[in-house]
Amino acid sequence: LDSLQPEYLNHLNDAQAQAVLHGGGRPGRPLLIIAGAGSGKTNTLAHRVAHLLISGADPRRILLATFSRRAARELVGRVERVARRVMGDKAAILTEGLSWTGTFHSIGARLLRDYAEQIGLAPEFVIHDREDSADLLNLARNDLDLSRLDKRFPTKGTCLAIYSRAVNAQEELDVVLAKHFPWCLEWEVELKALFAAYVEAKQAANILDYDDLLLYWQAMVEDGGLGAEIGARFDHVLIDEYQDTNRLQSAILMGMKPTGEGVAVVGDDAQSIYSFRAAEVRNILDFPKLFDPPARVVTLARNYRSTAPVLDAANRVIGAARERHAKELFTEREGGAKPKLVTVLDDNGQADYVATSVLEAREAGARLKDQAVLFRASHHSGALEIELTRRGIPFVKFGGLKFLDAAHVKDVLAVLRLAINPRDRIAGFRALQLLPGIGPKAAAAVLDALALSEDPVGELEGFPVPPRAQQDWAGFVAMMGELKRGDAGWPVPIERVRTWYQPHLERIHEDYETRAADILQLESIAGGFRGMSEFLTELALDPPEVTSDQAGPALKDEDYLILSTIHSAKGQEWTHVFLLNCVDGCIPSDLAAGETDEIEEERRLLYVAMTRAKDGLHLMVPQRFYVHGQHRRGDRHVYANRTRFISPHMLDKFDRTSFPLADAGGPSARPGGARPVVDLKAKMAGRWK
Ligand code: ATP
Ligand code: MG
Repeated sequence: LDSLQPEYLNHLNDAQAQAVLHGGGRPGRPLLIIAGAGSGKTNTLAHRVAHLLISGADPRRILLATFSRRAARELVGRVERVARRVMGDKAAILTEGLSWTGTFHSIGARLLRDYAEQIGLAPEFVIHDREDSADLLNLARNDLDLSRLDKRFPTKGTCLAIYSRAVNAQEELDVVLAKHFPWCLEWEVELKALFAAYVEAKQAANILDYDDLLLYWQAMVEDGGLGAEIGARFDHVLIDEYQDTNRLQSAILMGMKPTGEGVAVVGDDAQSIYSFRAAEVRNILDFPKLFDPPARVVTLARNYRSTAPVLDAANRVIGAARERHAKELFTEREGGAKPKLVTVLDDNGQADYVATSVLEAREAGARLKDQAVLFRASHHSGALEIELTRRGIPFVKFGGLKFLDAAHVKDVLAVLRLAINPRDRIAGFRALQLLPGIGPKAAAAVLDALALSEDPVGELEGFPVPPRAQQDWAGFVAMMGELKRGDAGWPVPIERVRTWYQPHLERIHEDYETRAADILQLESIAGGFRGMSEFLTELALDPPEVTSDQAGPALKDEDYLILSTIHSAKGQEWTHVFLLNCVDGCIPSDLAAGETDEIEEERRLLYVAMTRAKDGLHLMVPQRFYVHGQHRRGDRHVYANRTRFISPHMLDKFDRTSFPLADAGGPSARPGGARPVVDLKAKMAGRWK
C-alpha cells in the first residue's frame, strides 16, 4: 500500500488511508467507518472527498450530509485544504462545486424544489420551522376544539413531538404513544384526527415542516422511477455522524442507493444522542448487513484529539455503558493534567470559576476560541452569560436562543413569507396584526379571502378593512405588491420591509433602537442569499447563532469564547472544555429518570461532552442546582449530587477541587450573597419577547 499511497495521505494512519483509498477514487462497494470520538472519522471523510476530487470525480455528483450547516462548512474547508496541497488554487473551484453539501433537511429541500412539479407540490412551497409548525398545529387543535373537550389534552408542543416522532421513526401512532407518551394514550383517536387536520392545513397552504422534507424525499425515492433518477444524480453519497440518523433517513439512503455503491457512512454508536428525536442507533450497527456485497467496515482505534488523562476518564465513563460496540481508544498524547472535578456552591460560583479559568488560560496563551463551555440545556448558561458580560469576555452561543426568535425579526420575516405565500396563515396573522386597527378577527377575514384568491395583491387592495386600519392599509398593500413582483430577485428586499416596519417598531417597542439594529443585521445576513425563497428556506432550516451584543458578522475575525449545548457541540473540539452542571438531575436530566434507554443516552451525552476536550477538561459540580419550572413545579433550587455516571471507583481519574478553595470547612464555607442580583429572566424576556 505504501508505495501506491499518494503523498497527501502520508500523515494518515493505515486504517484511515485504507478508508480514503477504498474504491480507488471511484464509487466502490459501501463503506462504514465506525470508531470512537476523536479517532479522525470526519478527517478521514474529508480526505476521502478530497481524494475523489483529485481522482477526477465531479463535485456536483457528490452528496455530502452532515448534521449542521456549520459542520458542513468545516468539512468543505478541510477538503479544500487537503486538495490544495495537490492541485493548488483549482481546489477552491472544485470544492465550490460541492453544492450538495449540507444537512439532510437542506439537501431534501433542494431536491424537492427540483422535483416538486413531478410529485404534486407547488415549487414555491414554504418551510415552517418547529415553532411555526407548532402554531399551525395549534390552529388545527383549536378548530377541533380539542382543548375545550378536555383541559388535560396535550399541549401543542407535545402534540408536535408525538407527530414528529411517529413520522421520523416510521411507527404507528399507538406504538409511539405506548412507548414514549403513555400519558397521551387515551387521546389516540383525537390525536389522529388532529394530525389529519394538520396535514391538510399544511397542504392547503403549500407548507412543509421539517419532517415533510424527509418524508417527501423518502416518498420520492420509494417511487421506482424517480428513486432511480435521483440516485443516479449522485456517484457518491457520504454521511457523517451516521449514528444520529433516523429510519426515514436510512430509508432515503436505501432508496437512492439500493446496492450501496458509492455510499460511505461514518459514526460512533457511543455518541448516539438524538434518540429523543427518533434517531436510530441500529442504522449504524446494522449497516454492515444491509448490502450484497456487504459493506467494508473500517474501525479506528487511535484518538488524536485528547491527552491520555482526558481520554482515560472518558473511556471509563463510557466503559460503564450497558451496550457498546466501538472499541476503547488509545492515544499517544501522554502527559497532561487529569480532568478537574470542581465543586462550587451554585450557579454563580460556577460562572465565577469558568470566567476566571478562561482568563487564566488566555494568559497562558490559549485564545478564547480554543475554549468552550458546554451545557445540557440552553438556559443553563444564564449566570455565566452575565458574568462574562460583566468581565468583558466576548462569547458566541450555539444552539441557544435564536436570533430569529426575536419578535421584531419574526415580524419582518412574516411579511416576507406572506408576500411569497399568501396562504401562510401563521405568517399572515403575525404580519397583518402589525397594522393598528387589525386584530385577530380582521386578520382571519383577510386570510380567508387570500386563501381563495387568485390575485392576492388585488384582493388586499379591495379588502374592506376596519376604518382604523385604513390609513396604513394602502402602504401595506403597495409593499406587498412590490415584494410579490420582486420575489425571485436579488437582493432579498429586507430594506423595503424595514422602511415600512420602522414606524410600527417605534410604536410597539420602547427599545426600538436595539431592535432596529437587529433588523439591519438581518439585512446583512440576507445579503448572502440569492433570493427570498432561498433565504427563507435556509433561515427556517438552520438559523444563525446568537452572539453577545449585536456582534454579527463583524465578530468573525475576533476572538470569542464558545458557549454551546452538548448536542450542538457534536463533532467539534477545543483545547479547554468546561462542562456545566455535572449533577444528577441535569446529566442525567431528571426528565429522563427511570427508563434505562434514556439514562444510557444521557451517559453517552456526558461522553460526547468530555471527548470534545483536547487538553483541559473541567467538570463543574454545583452543590445547589437551579431547576427551571417544569411540570408546573416552578423554579427552585435543589441540592444536587455529582452525576451518577462518575461513580466512586472512577474518581481516581479526576483531580477533585473546590472553588473558591476553601480555608477549612469545604466549599460550602464560601460567603454567598455578595453578588448583585440580576434578573436574567426579565432581561431575556425584554429583549426576545
Ligand atoms: P468525533 O467522533 O468527535 O466526531 P472524529 O472521529 O470525527 O471525532 P476528527 O474530528 O476527524 O475525529 O479528528 C479529531 C482530531 O484528530 C482532529 O484535530 C484531527 O485533525 C486529528 N487527526 C485525525 N487523524 C489524524 C492523523 N492521522 N494524524 C494527526 N491528527 C489527526
Ligand atoms: Mg467527527
